[in-house]
Amino acid sequence: MSKEISKNRKTLYYVGNGISLIGFILFLSVFFTAFLNPFDMMGSSNPMANGFIGFILIIIGQSISILGARGLAGSGLILDPKQAREDLKPYSSQVGGMINDALEEVDLLNESKEVIKVRCPSCKTLNDEDAKYCKKCGAQL
Ligand SMILES: [Zn+2]
Repeated sequence: MSKEISKNRKTLYYVGNGISLIGFILFLSVFFTAFLNPFDMMGSSNPMANGFIGFILIIIGQSISILGARGLAGSGLILDPKQAREDLKPYSSQVGGMINDALEEVDLLNESKEVIKVRCPSCKTLNDEDAKYCKKCGAQL
């Protein structure tokens, strides 16, 4: 029951991103080749094939990195809601942590906000600033 993403999944994520990057460069190279050599589009080097391979690599790389980030069940590759919850735990606890942080911040704001009270002239009970009558004895403030 670890909240951390396993090392294997992290590796998978980076490998996937690496493959996408290679695919992206290959994909972009088509435009550079076309730009540098506009009459050789269907020639011997066949840059369109590179673009196609690049495109496929991007898709494969992205799939692998999603797999690494979310795990097998978390990415929906295997249907196992229990394992999916476990796989996605780092994310859900992260969201929970963010909500907690936000709540703490609100608490701090509330604490730093000055609360003004008025003391009842007859029974000395502290009442809210905007109270018209004392909450304890009912005397007018
Ligand atoms: Zn009073």
